[in-house]
Amino acid sequence: MPEPARSSPQSTLDRDAGLLWHPYGPLDAGAHFSVTGAAGAYVELCDTSGSPHRLLDGMSSWWAVVHGYRHPVMDAALTHQIRSFSHVMFGGLTHGPAVDLAEHLVAVTPAGLDHVYLADSGSVSVEVALKLATQYQQARGRDRSRFLALEGAYHGDTTGAMSVCDPVGGMHADFAGLLSPQLFLPRPPLPEASTVEVDAWVVRAENLVDMHGSELAGIIVEPLFQGAGGMRPYHPAALRALRRLATEIDAVFIADEIATGFGRTGADFACRSAGITPDVMCLGKALTGGYLTLAALMCSGPIAEVITASSHRALMHGPTFMANPLACAAATASVGLLFTDDTSGWEPAIARISPALTAGLAPAREMAHVAEVRVTGGIGVIELERPVDVGLTTRIAAEHGVWLRPFRRHIYTMPPYISTPETMATITAAMVAAAAAHSEGDLQ
Ligand SMILES: *Cc1c(COP(=O)(O)O)cnc(C)c1O
Repeated sequence: MPEPARSSPQSTLDRDAGLLWHPYGPLDAGAHFSVTGAAGAYVELCDTSGSPHRLLDGMSSWWAVVHGYRHPVMDAALTHQIRSFSHVMFGGLTHGPAVDLAEHLVAVTPAGLDHVYLADSGSVSVEVALKLATQYQQARGRDRSRFLALEGAYHGDTTGAMSVCDPVGGMHADFAGLLSPQLFLPRPPLPEASTVEVDAWVVRAENLVDMHGSELAGIIVEPLFQGAGGMRPYHPAALRALRRLATEIDAVFIADEIATGFGRTGADFACRSAGITPDVMCLGKALTGGYLTLAALMCSGPIAEVITASSHRALMHGPTFMANPLACAAATASVGLLFTDDTSGWEPAIARISPALTAGLAPAREMAHVAEVRVTGGIGVIELERPVDVGLTTRIAAEHGVWLRPFRRHIYTMPPYISTPETMATITAAMVAAAAAHSEGDLQ
């Protein structure tokens, strides 16, 4: 057996390239850094030249690690569970961690979402939601399996989820033969849009639903904020109109709160701030505080009753690792912190983070090549006039002590909820510096 130099982070980087695929990256590209440790809001890493860095995680590891790394409450919950049992099948068996979590989720989500399906990841919970809506229509004696979604949407990378992602940005052309053709509405108007603009959009939605209502199993949206499809908020009246239309045609209204849930947009759940309750809500990302992969599908009583009264009587999905006890224990601890903790509870966190984003990102508003600066709750976005240079942004941010992972035209942050005014100032300064480095002069 050859002995690879396992202890060296630099050799980890070398061994990675050509061996492992990274998200949406070429096999031979490898990674920028190798992570050697993480604590609180910081990740410790090593670059290709072997130099160590300690960077603030401006991404919360893709919006999930809201309490930071090695949080004592999270670590204790997992240690406790691992000493009891780490996994057991969920077919025919149950366990405390799953029931505890489900009870917590029913208690914190909008009233009426009383039933829980635990899935392996966000994308899988979206698949289950689409299957649930289809089963619901079957049970009602209807042949309906199409979905209405929004342009600019992102709902995950599995095929069902991909089919309801933005048709252009969502890889539809690459996988045309694999994806069900769905119906799309244009992006809803921004929160500051005029009544005339909002009304025109609602009329368009009404017309589309009038035409295709009898084909629609469900309507699926990211409530109030579109994440990976464009980092863009929209008007609550548009969300309310879609909820109303779903009720009118008896389509299942699915709110994908995988990114927006648990306070990120400035409300515990975006649906609640718009005053609506969906039939189905998908939760993920921050659900486990980013410790393990897990998603939850919350379902209303009336929808669940129809499924139960159908010939299958069951929701036809059952993953091997369903309701993994370690993931459930992490999620229960995370949800507990989110709703009670003074530091990483969503409400005090957003109250600290949101004004720090507004103040810290203000200098970018003056830059000619910046299209827009937007702050929505705990989300800060600098949108450039053209695509971001990812390598340049990564380097400038790291020089400022921050880890950022921009995409398309967006230099953005979804900072950990444990962020302080000081760490927020560091993150926003890094974003502003990265944006400044994109001015024509600097790039030439
Ligand atoms: C990240 C995300 C998903 C997919 O979740 P995974 O855990 O990556 O499968 C789905 N919907 C939204 C809104 C997301 O942000």
